[in-house]
Amino acid sequence: MRSSCATRRIYKWTLPAWAGRLPDGRTYNTCPSAGICHDLCYARHGTFQFPGVVRAHQANLRYVLDEPDAWEAQLTTELQHRRYYSGPGPAHVRIHDSGDFFSAAYLHAWIRIVRRTPDVVFYAYTKEIALFEETVRPDPPPNFYWRYSYGGTQDARIPPGSPHVDVFPDEESLDQAGYTSQAPSDLRGAYGPETLGIPANNLPHLKKAQGSQTFRALQRAADTAAADRRARRRGPAKRGPSKGHGPPR
Ligand code: SF4
Repeated sequence: MRSSCATRRIYKWTLPAWAGRLPDGRTYNTCPSAGICHDLCYARHGTFQFPGVVRAHQANLRYVLDEPDAWEAQLTTELQHRRYYSGPGPAHVRIHDSGDFFSAAYLHAWIRIVRRTPDVVFYAYTKEIALFEETVRPDPPPNFYWRYSYGGTQDARIPPGSPHVDVFPDEESLDQAGYTSQAPSDLRGAYGPETLGIPANNLPHLKKAQGSQTFRALQRAADTAAADRRARRRGPAKRGPSKGHGPPR
């Protein structure tokens, strides 16, 4: 794991974003519930796509896929190192800058790691709503904070009142909507209010593609359009035989 903020002792573990191909030819999708976000994903552009960065993230994924027990054991051992306990306050681990909990087995492994490391605080954003509601919500580890992230195919399943994050065109629109910006501190992902907003990354072509909408609004529009297409494919509803009175003979 790498340290992303030495003074606040935030460490990160991450995977490659969304879909790709490993050097051995295997394909993967680390964000199975990504929706409109995959077209606007900052991790699929810019520095995240530097070859060395892609290689490192893919190596993480290969480790998880090919040697899940060794990966889990190594991470658990690493988290016992004294640098995680040198204070002041707890160290934090952000699970994923990019990628998501792509399988139940992977999520279960993380939950075991979190439980074995009670003095470190873990946090994550996720679009895997159903998996978290079923797996984590009933008995969450006290040192684990998660936050649902809009822009995925499971947006409609985000329970009202859940901590969530939406991506806004800019700070101004975020503020107008009554959201709190995540920008001053990454730890707001863990400790911030229910309504957290992220201003769109400063990549001009992504900002242009997002326009004046939030990820939540764009996903809702995409869901509505998909439902309309499905309805059109099904065609007009067929009428069954009338049970009422037929026309007079
Ligand atoms: S879930 Fe996150 S990392 Fe994956 S495609 Fe969407 S924005 Fe990118």
